[in-house]
Amino acid sequence: MRRTGGILAAILIVGAIAAVPASGANAKPRAVVPSTSTIFGYIKDLTSFGYRRTGSKASLKAATYVRDSFRRFGLSEVHFQTARSYAWKVSDSSLSVDGIKRDSFPIAHAFMGGEQTGTFGTGPAGITAPIVDVGNGSASTFASKDVSGKVVMFDLRFLGLPADVFKAISKFTYDPDNTVQPGEVIPQPYISNIVDVVQRAMDGGAVGVVGVLADYFDSKYYFNEEYRKLQMDIPGMWVTRSEGDAIRAQLSVSPDAEAKLVMNGEREAAPARNVIGFLPGQSRTTLLISSHHDAVWDGAVEDGSGTSEVLALARYFGALKKKYRPMSLMFATMDSHFTGYQGHAAFLKKYVENAPEAERPRVNFAIEHIARHGYVDENGKLKMTNLPEIAGILENVGEKPLNVIRKVIPKYGLDRTVVLPATFFGVSLPTDASGAYQEAVPVVSLISGPIYLYDRQDTLDKVYKPHLRPMALAYKEMIARMSRMDPEDLPGDPPYKP
Ligand SMILES: [Zn+2]
Repeated sequence: MRRTGGILAAILIVGAIAAVPASGANAKPRAVVPSTSTIFGYIKDLTSFGYRRTGSKASLKAATYVRDSFRRFGLSEVHFQTARSYAWKVSDSSLSVDGIKRDSFPIAHAFMGGEQTGTFGTGPAGITAPIVDVGNGSASTFASKDVSGKVVMFDLRFLGLPADVFKAISKFTYDPDNTVQPGEVIPQPYISNIVDVVQRAMDGGAVGVVGVLADYFDSKYYFNEEYRKLQMDIPGMWVTRSEGDAIRAQLSVSPDAEAKLVMNGEREAAPARNVIGFLPGQSRTTLLISSHHDAVWDGAVEDGSGTSEVLALARYFGALKKKYRPMSLMFATMDSHFTGYQGHAAFLKKYVENAPEAERPRVNFAIEHIARHGYVDENGKLKMTNLPEIAGILENVGEKPLNVIRKVIPKYGLDRTVVLPATFFGVSLPTDASGAYQEAVPVVSLISGPIYLYDRQDTLDKVYKPHLRPMALAYKEMIARMSRMDPEDLPGDPPYKP
């Protein structure tokens, strides 16, 4: 039995009360954090629209859903902030090696990035060239191979975070059942060697790449973000680990085997729509609560879960009378997380860089990924557990607010949570709050890297339901308590200096 059993039981009872609808058309809902089923319902609704890719109909539906919810919860000045982003689409793609068709999936954002638009591709005939296998694609491997005019085959590697090192540097770890194993490595599927390897391939004159999803389960549907520092202007395909083994077996008998890559598509300008709303408080001092609503697949975890928490918090604080909100609150869900962060950049420009000093957010509470833990088993299958994914709260809010964070995590039973100094990650964060952090806005940024994060398998069953309401309660309490502090007590730690 978990120590938090009593709390969870109490939560369930309160949840049941919260689920009773307010009577009368104009009655404001009670100020209670919504029930688990209500919060999960937000995620269900978001995933029902289809793949929320920036520029798609589903993306517009999701933004509209958040906007209408914000209005219903009583937020003011609710609006879309739009920025020019891009929709990248492939119409046909294939890979074969010496005439044998290989199961593949296009590497997202290949051929065109930055501000480029138009059609792209290899043409229907594709490109045909010998394959050079560079393994993990280190600089020294590239130095010993001639990749010019060839197709580079490499292993995509995820950064593995050693869980116990994580624990050691943390300011606070809550793992009451000791589930984090000594020596356990947590692979982060969104931090990989793709940028370095593809850049080396292009620098060497390669005409295409084949990426083997070496640390992944048996899925080819890995849909990466657009990496702004990489302008990938050659085609590329992902293959599963077993398909990679099969190609390597083919190469071992015919080292001169040629790959044929076909990839054609289009990149169009598309609006990124951030959804923004306000709850004025007693003072103009403002706290920002944010996530992102775009996704490349169902995105139940990424980031239906984060968006659902923003909605739960908007609903709670929106039901409070203004006199119970010492500080003003600003809510935002961003778009363009996968397509170059133009929405985020526009947001920062308007509401941070160019905002009057008094209204610049004092803290960015960012919420991403309430995830069930899954791992790749010895047969390359995705195995789900009933544990939450190990989550980090990256913060640099300063000592007094940090004490609040330390308190609420055990209070609400958010097991397998590690509080980490944001500065540990250097000048930028691997989260949606990175831009705010770089603009010296202190952050409380929840993040985890479940292995299926970028996959078609990020479906509703991947959401870690037992944490949905406790997370909202914990963030609610952090926001409420920090908004009662003297703004001087929210200075943030000194910014990171490289
Ligand atoms: Zn996310």
